[in-house]
This record gives sequence, C-alpha cells and structure tokens, in this order.
Amino acid sequence: MTNPKKTISRKDVPKKDAWNTEALYPSMKAWEADFTKVIHRSTAPFFPELDGFNGKLHKSAKTLKDLLECYFSIERKLRKLYTYAHLRHDEDIANEAHKKQYDKIGTMYHEFAKEACWIEPEILAIDKKTLQKYRRDPLLQEYAFYLEKLFRQKPHTLSEPEEKILALAGLALETPHKAFSSISDADFKFGSCADKADTHHELTHATYGLYIRSQDRTLRKNAFETLLGKYGEFGNSLTELLAGQLQKHLFFAKARNYTTCLEAALQPKNIDPSVYFTLIDAVHDNIHVLHAYMALRKKALKLKELHLYDTAVPFVQAPDMKFSYEEAEDLVIESTKPLGTHYQNILKDGLKSNRWVDRYENIAKRSGAYSSGCYDSMPYILMNFKGILRDVFTLAHEAGHSMHSYFSRTSQPYHYSDYAIFVAEVASTFNEELLNHTLLQNAKTKLQKAFLINEKLEDIRATLFRQTMFAEFELKIHSFVEARTPITPELLKHEYRTLNEYYFGKGVHIDPAIAIEWARIPHFYYGFYVYQYATGISAAIQLAEGVLHGGRQEQNRYLDFLKMGGSKYPLEILKKAGCDLTTVAPVTNAIAKFATLTKELAKLL
Ligand SMILES: [Zn+2]
Repeated sequence: MTNPKKTISRKDVPKKDAWNTEALYPSMKAWEADFTKVIHRSTAPFFPELDGFNGKLHKSAKTLKDLLECYFSIERKLRKLYTYAHLRHDEDIANEAHKKQYDKIGTMYHEFAKEACWIEPEILAIDKKTLQKYRRDPLLQEYAFYLEKLFRQKPHTLSEPEEKILALAGLALETPHKAFSSISDADFKFGSCADKADTHHELTHATYGLYIRSQDRTLRKNAFETLLGKYGEFGNSLTELLAGQLQKHLFFAKARNYTTCLEAALQPKNIDPSVYFTLIDAVHDNIHVLHAYMALRKKALKLKELHLYDTAVPFVQAPDMKFSYEEAEDLVIESTKPLGTHYQNILKDGLKSNRWVDRYENIAKRSGAYSSGCYDSMPYILMNFKGILRDVFTLAHEAGHSMHSYFSRTSQPYHYSDYAIFVAEVASTFNEELLNHTLLQNAKTKLQKAFLINEKLEDIRATLFRQTMFAEFELKIHSFVEARTPITPELLKHEYRTLNEYYFGKGVHIDPAIAIEWARIPHFYYGFYVYQYATGISAAIQLAEGVLHGGRQEQNRYLDFLKMGGSKYPLEILKKAGCDLTTVAPVTNAIAKFATLTKELAKLL
C-alpha cells in the first residue's frame, strides 16, 4: 500500500500521487505570464475588444458571429487560467501565494461578466425580421442552439429598466437564504449527546451523519432528538425565512410572466413540469416497495418498533474490506468494460499514466472529492483516498464525471462543451452502478454480497425516495404561497409530518420531532432542485441496465450521450441515450430494481 500513514505537507507529496497540473502550466510563473497576455490592461475595461461590438449586433450576421467568437475565446482563456489557479489553491488552501492568484483570476472572471452583461439583452432586442434572417444564415449555424436557448427566454425577459430593477432587488432578496445559512451553519450550537454508556459526544452537522448511522441506538436517538430539537426551538424564525424564500420565488415567477414557481424553475432548461409530476406519481404508485424495505429493516435490526432514527443505520455488518489506491483504480477500470475498449483505454491512460487524480490527503488540502478541468485541460479529480469501500465508489463517481467531460470536450465546440446539471449526475451515478455490478460479481462471501446490496438499497432510498418526498414538499409549499395561504410553523409541520407518514408507512413509528426536519434542509432554498437527484439516479439505473444487458447499440447510444455535452436540451440528450423521463418507465424501473434487491437481501439474511 502506498497510502501514506501520516498526513504530509504538500511539498512532500510524490509526483505520482499528485495531479498533473504541469500539463496545464509548467509553473506559477508561466501562469502569471499567460495571465498578463490575456489581461493586458490594469484598469477597466479589461476586455476592450468587446466594446467594438456594442450597439452593432443588429447590423449583420457576421458582426454577431464575430462577437460570439470574441466572447467565447476570452471566456475559454479565462477558464484555463481559472482551472490552474483553483487546482493549485485546493491542493494546499493554506498557501497564501496561491490564494492570491486564485482571488486574482476570480475577480477578473467577475469583471468579464460585468463587461459582457450587455450582450444577451442586445441580442434579444434584435427585431424579429433580422433575427429570422440570422437564423437562416449559414454563418451562424454553429450557434443555432445557443441562440435558440437564448430566445426561449425572450417572453420572460423584461425591458432594460425593468431588468435593472430586478437586478437591484436581487441582492436584497438573497437575505432569507443567507440568514438561514448563518443561523443553521454558524450560529446553531447543538451541544452534545450521550451514548448508551452515558458518554457525551459533540454534536455537529458532520458528526450527526455518523451518529444517525451508529449501531448504538441510544446515540442515534439522542442525536436525532437533540439536533431537531434545536431547530424546533427556532420554529417561528425558520418558518419566516423559508416563507421569505418562497415569496422570492413567487416574485421572480410573476415578474417574469410565468404561471407558477415550478414553471419558472424548469422552463429555462426546457423541462416540462410533467417530468416533475410523473416522478411523484411513479413513486406514489409504488410506495409499498419502500414500506416492504422498512419491514425488512425492522426485522433485520430485531426491533419491536422501527423509529425514524432507525431508518439510516446499516443493518448488515460491514465486512473488513480495505483497498489500496491501485486496487481501487483497477476495479474502477475493470467495471467499465461494458462500455468498450475505447472508453476503458482512455480512462486507464488518464488514471494510470496522465495523472488525472490527486490521490491522498495532505496538510491543508481541500476535503471531499470532485472532478474538474476545462476545455483546454485534461479532466482533474481531487480525492482524499483512505481505502474504504466508499472511496472506491467516489473514484468511480468522479471518473464518470471526468469521462463525460473528456468526451464532451473532445466532441463539441467550446460553447457546447458544458453539460447541464440535470445530465451530469447521470454519468457519475452510471459508473457507480457499473462498479456495484462488478463488486457483486466478485463478492466472495455472503456477508460481502449482503453488505453491497444494503449499500445500494440505502443509496436508492436516500436519492430516489427521500428526494422525491422533498420534491413533493417543495411543490406543496410553493402552491401555498401561490394561493396566498399564510405560511405558519403549524402548516409546514403538518405537511411535513403527513408526507413522512405516507412515505414511511404504517410500519414505522413517526417520531413527533420529525415535523420540523424541513427547517434544516438547505436545498429548499434552491427552488426545485432536488427532484434532479431522483430523476438522475433513475436515468443512471435504466441506462446502466441497458448497457449491462444489451449490446452494441446500447453501448453506442450511451457513448453518444457523453459526446453530446450541452449541444441539446437535457431531456432530448437523455432520450437519445434511451431514457425518456417524460414517461414513468425510468422511475418505475429503478423502483423495481429496489424491490428485487430488497427480496435478494431478505434471502441472504
Ligand atoms: Zn457528482
């Protein structure tokens, strides 16, 4: 094992364990030199080349094309600079010099957005006749989808002075979300909670995740009640904050001529609200599957009564599974065999020779994991690999993102190379599916097999069922503000409790403390975001099954999906890959898999 035993300084990290940032710039000095080449002015305007186009976009298709080329070429150079600075920043966040460079490019990015802010409104202001001419012009063919996306927003874009007022209001309207984050993440202190031996443990957001999965039931119960109890104490204020956020969504929806808040959130991505309703309906029609899983959980945990604080703890004892980084790499590469040798070879080269991955923890390295990079770089993966099974899944997940980026960057022009969030998590979860499949095939003992199935079930429960419950709650509370129903703590608690009763079923004891849980979920401030987790995992399961059990056609369709990047709307891209989220099939298929796994696990236990 090459996993270092104690945490080392960044400067001591061996080259083979570190990501290949030299491929982007050989040194910080080279980065500085490129920075001054891209931004050669020291005062605004920093990008005077844009100014020459201002007020002239209606003149000819050629002018518009030249402007778009100019705009995207600046953005592309800035992203290369930004990528390097952010990677160097994240590998050692205590490095003052790197932080300065990171801030420097961040500021320039902001300046660029400011100096380019006139472009979209000016394009939208071009008269109808000219526009139709532009659309037929072969010169602008490569920007056709970009322009189409922009024009979708035209009925929801206001006049310039009106837009200015909306922008001015924007900052003030961030208060509910900001205040919520401050109170929930900074101000709240949760104290401690006792385990069954009456030893007290400090309770924070991070430790809550551990305690609620602890085999010590007393600790689970106390963590659950203490944490939610804190939110309960501040029920009135937290209600006002969420109500304020809902009013913000309503304000923008009305100001921009949308009929509902849901439509305002989905329309820009061309996602029909029916996708949202279909998800909820499909889960409702199959809710007994979740109830059956809860019954198995109750039996396996040997409990007389299953409480809500018993619903996250693993009920199969973890087998002793440790992995070296190299073993994880090999497993992830092996698992992608169903995608063909071309895919596998690129991934293998990326992981083993091109050093996409920054493998282990070092002092002051950013925590967690992500996949990053830009059009002019290789994909980069940040990890803090420690050798547990979860880490192997993390590598598979991030490698899924990286391969998506690789294919989309090598197949699309720059301006279509970014894919939407709606499809991003499909590619990463897809690779987790493949890894799970490989691990199950390789499992040597019954216990290993049971553990892997338990993990998969928990994954689907938390991502598909729980997030759909959240999505339903969001829909409900937005409908209240749309109907001018006053939002009170009692109303929110009643609705949330009712949903929990429905989702968990009669077999689970619904502890009163749960009624306030909505108050700690930051996602309710994002506005119709969480449903994408549920649709994402459903699509990934359907596509992975297609590739695992299908042939060449399924494989090619999936690879084409990765190559499409952001060149079409997300639903269209998924449909081409073989997953139609306007139908119930992907969700019911994922739930059917959940049902099968529940039965399999019952047999193994
Ligand atoms: Zn991800």
